[in-house]
Amino acid sequence: MATTEGRAFPGRTPEALRGYLGATFAGPPKLRSPPQDSTLYFDIKPEQEPLIYHESYDISFLGIENLHPFDSKKWGKILAFLKQRRTIKEQQVVKPNKASTNDLLAVHTEEYLLSLKSSAQVASITEVAPVALLPNFLVRRNLLNNFKMQTGGSVLAGKLAVERGWAINLGGGFHHCCGCAGGGFCAFADITLCAYFARDRLPGIQRVMVIDLDAHQGNGHERDLMG
Ligand SMILES: [Zn+2]
Repeated sequence: MATTEGRAFPGRTPEALRGYLGATFAGPPKLRSPPQDSTLYFDIKPEQEPLIYHESYDISFLGIENLHPFDSKKWGKILAFLKQRRTIKEQQVVKPNKASTNDLLAVHTEEYLLSLKSSAQVASITEVAPVALLPNFLVRRNLLNNFKMQTGGSVLAGKLAVERGWAINLGGGFHHCCGCAGGGFCAFADITLCAYFARDRLPGIQRVMVIDLDAHQGNGHERDLMG
């Protein structure tokens, strides 16, 4: 796991994390079983490959997405590259379902999800200040929904990896988000949710390993999964 402890993150104390994450801490998340009626797990066709992407992964939001150093359309560009190289065909790509509020409540506190109804809170999490000035319905439709779709992709990848031996979600990997706080452009704890679904739904899964190759420390999933 790549770490930058001592530089970007001075330590793992709640005070240090509070200084980095965009939301206030309200205690550890409640661990709940994923909802039985969730649509995030589904079977794919034999001719499909466990490579997961949805066009709504890519963020287009009045141009303000360009204010963040991340390329907000990188996910679609990766798929275009793979298709250009004939690594995969469009009909082989798996489209996930969007994580519902009930899905998200398996890892997130209600307090945290309610906090996302504040555009200022989302602006803090995404580190794009002008988002604070926008009506929240626009923020949900053009930003949070994209993240929810990517979160659905991460959860599905866990199931498909067990069935096929590998799976890739082109989006997700929101390693700065834990059950009770978001930050660093990470609004939903998709890594934790993927682990919860796998533990709850997939036979024989009791432990997961997170190999985090980001330049930062994955303080979100660490907080949820390391206890
Ligand atoms: Zn990071």
